[in-house]
Amino acid sequence: MDLEVFCKKLPKLELHAHLNGSVSPETIRKLCELKNKNFHEDLSRINTSVSLKECFKIFDIVHALTDTTDALFITTCDIISEFHNDNVIYLELRSTPKYVEGKMNKNEYIETIIKAIEHSKKLLPEIIVKFLVSVNRRNGFEDAEENVKLAIDYYKKYPEYIVGIDLSGDPTEGDAFLNLFINARNIGLKIAAHCAEVPNEKEIMDILEFKPDRLGHCTNIHPNLKGSHELFDKLIESKIPVELCLTSNLKCETIKSLSEHQFLYLYEANHPICLATDDKGVFDTTLSQEYKLAADNYNLTKDNLKQLVISSVDYAFVSKEEKIKLLNTIACKNKQLN
Ligand SMILES: [Zn+2]
Repeated sequence: MDLEVFCKKLPKLELHAHLNGSVSPETIRKLCELKNKNFHEDLSRINTSVSLKECFKIFDIVHALTDTTDALFITTCDIISEFHNDNVIYLELRSTPKYVEGKMNKNEYIETIIKAIEHSKKLLPEIIVKFLVSVNRRNGFEDAEENVKLAIDYYKKYPEYIVGIDLSGDPTEGDAFLNLFINARNIGLKIAAHCAEVPNEKEIMDILEFKPDRLGHCTNIHPNLKGSHELFDKLIESKIPVELCLTSNLKCETIKSLSEHQFLYLYEANHPICLATDDKGVFDTTLSQEYKLAADNYNLTKDNLKQLVISSVDYAFVSKEEKIKLLNTIACKNKQLN
């Protein structure tokens, strides 16, 4: 079987997907029509340009378009359906609760996403979807505190869907607010933290010492990638799974080429890793495409790819029962791939 077809058919788990960055051009067009707004000029420019600045204009457009509960509901349902079409059997979405004056408060934001997950569950029972409440480090302490509280409240109400907190946002600004996550962790919420997107030895060490349940990127940790032996040893020793997003890192230029991506060092060290899209809409990728990129660039066999998926189950923020269910689904689907 052709590698591209194999990667598409392979049952996969997506553990690092930001809601706003995952919106497809089709959904943007749909929302434009719904809201009678015209972003055609911006969109055609983005479609013909690969520059990062142009990519990030999509974020602004998406934020402007998802400012009501109706639009957010449509957006979330579409994203789930697109991942499902890419044979993703388990999806963790993450997003910072948004407040839009006169239109939507943060509670409504989270509740709408939960409604969309419940709605999708009826239509597409084969894909399991969970949600992580994001804390955007750039928005300051009070906002972070408020979002952690919301995560705790909604975890208590909807433990089936709200499973964790994500620390994200511009890594060059603000604080990691690690102390805020202690209570959340103590009651059972999982913590996923973006880590080492820029070189910052002190903060990276603090994050590693906090021991989040998963880490995103971990780019500037290996000594060859502006990290240090001390940081790399600490990461390997921690055994904390790392979410790797190849296209995102390449397009954001946090790495120069895939031949020097941290994937190599972590894979060689047998460190737990999983492949993810980060922002499939903004970076114009799919999870299948990420698996194909890994296979093409790191000489992975189809069995290696299957093994990557199977080990990802262990890093998903789910119960033991759900892990068994996922492993059974994978075994069943993989049989058809042989
Ligand atoms: Zn991310």
